Amino acid sequence: MTSQQVMHVGLDDTDSTKGGCTTYLAALLIEKLDEFHVNFIDYPGLIRLNPNVPWKTRGNGALCLRFRYDEMFENEIKEAAIALWEENSAIKEKGTDPGIVFLKEEKIPEELKVFSRKTETKIVTLKEAMALVKKLKAEALGFNSCRGIIGALAAIGETLEDDYTYELIAYRAKENWGLKRKVDEESIFEMDKCLQPFTFNNVDLETRRVIITPRGPDPILFGVRGESAETVRRAYELVKPLEPVERWVIFRSNQGTDAHLRCVDELDKIEPYSSVIVKGVVSKEPWIIPLRHVFFGIRDGSAEVDCAAYEPTGNLRKTARELIVGDQIEVYGAVHKATSSKPITINLEKINILDLKPKMRKENPLCLSCEKRLKSMGKKQGFRCEKCGKKFSYLKKQEFVVPRSLMPGLHITSTRSQRHLTKPLIRYGQEKSGEVKHELINKWHFP
Ligand SMILES: [Zn+2]
Repeated sequence: MTSQQVMHVGLDDTDSTKGGCTTYLAALLIEKLDEFHVNFIDYPGLIRLNPNVPWKTRGNGALCLRFRYDEMFENEIKEAAIALWEENSAIKEKGTDPGIVFLKEEKIPEELKVFSRKTETKIVTLKEAMALVKKLKAEALGFNSCRGIIGALAAIGETLEDDYTYELIAYRAKENWGLKRKVDEESIFEMDKCLQPFTFNNVDLETRRVIITPRGPDPILFGVRGESAETVRRAYELVKPLEPVERWVIFRSNQGTDAHLRCVDELDKIEPYSSVIVKGVVSKEPWIIPLRHVFFGIRDGSAEVDCAAYEPTGNLRKTARELIVGDQIEVYGAVHKATSSKPITINLEKINILDLKPKMRKENPLCLSCEKRLKSMGKKQGFRCEKCGKKFSYLKKQEFVVPRSLMPGLHITSTRSQRHLTKPLIRYGQEKSGEVKHELINKWHFP
């Protein structure tokens, strides 16, 4: 008699700017594990970590596979996983620091869950990760700086018990890697229309651009994000690829959940490299710097900081431009360190407008005889009518309330510039909590 055990395999940072993709390695490993008759106990986890880590790979995503296996195959499973990982990691590329972690545990320890949440919001050191690997009797392997071990361990600890989403990723046949992707764009717009609001970030309606197909040399043909495994599976059937799909997998993910954002009470408590939600009053009129980036200042009783809406944020930049001193807002974004030329700055993902200050405009009064707008004769000198020549020394400037073009409420960066973790507007009200769905749908990967 042999016994059944539970294993979690974490993977991170195997891709480089020249191609490859850690999700693809996970997809290959899923197929390989079938040879050992494992039973997956959850969808593979696609975990996006703190997007503000200075040395991150492009998407800063880590992966985790969880399965029940026969103890008899333990060594073979590990060897097969390591062999695939070595083969598919861009070890020789500078800035690629692959990591793989194995943890044999029925239940994920609380301490590891805390560690994972930290990697989503802050900076975590390799030393911290290695201390935890040792304590939990996990096994970790790394190349180059070995920083990938941090993400690999974090992916295991993120059990997605709060909010989560799904992504089905379809991969290209190897002979097409690096070539232009061929997918029927109209079918993507159709799918988006058909499955709303249960899928998100398929297309950017402002520019009418498809955003589920990446641009780089990586093996991904497209990825559809949604609220349930059934939805993304249905979406896959509606999209018409015009080139062969080698394989596809449904991942469970923290994408689109704002997992990276943390509420901070006061402006003087925000830390560089973290992403925050913080309230303040607009204290500096918006100004535009070259390349059409919009900046403004906010303050509270503790400090004053700058906020930046960069050009690609699209609509959000337009919102920022319309703010005036005195508006009460809540900003969402990544905190950037102060430099010699710039104070501490929040790079905006969202602005929640809490209260708009009435905008006033002062104008010269109208002539009492002919109703023409009067001209000022100088400070405290009164007004003169250019048409009839009459003078009015006792009249004062009139104040008008100017209608604001902004509406209170949440304003979010355009779809095309949203981070993987940014919760899009369409997801508000669809958040999940408490109920972890381990039940896998019938067909969640191919082959
Ligand atoms: Zn007049």
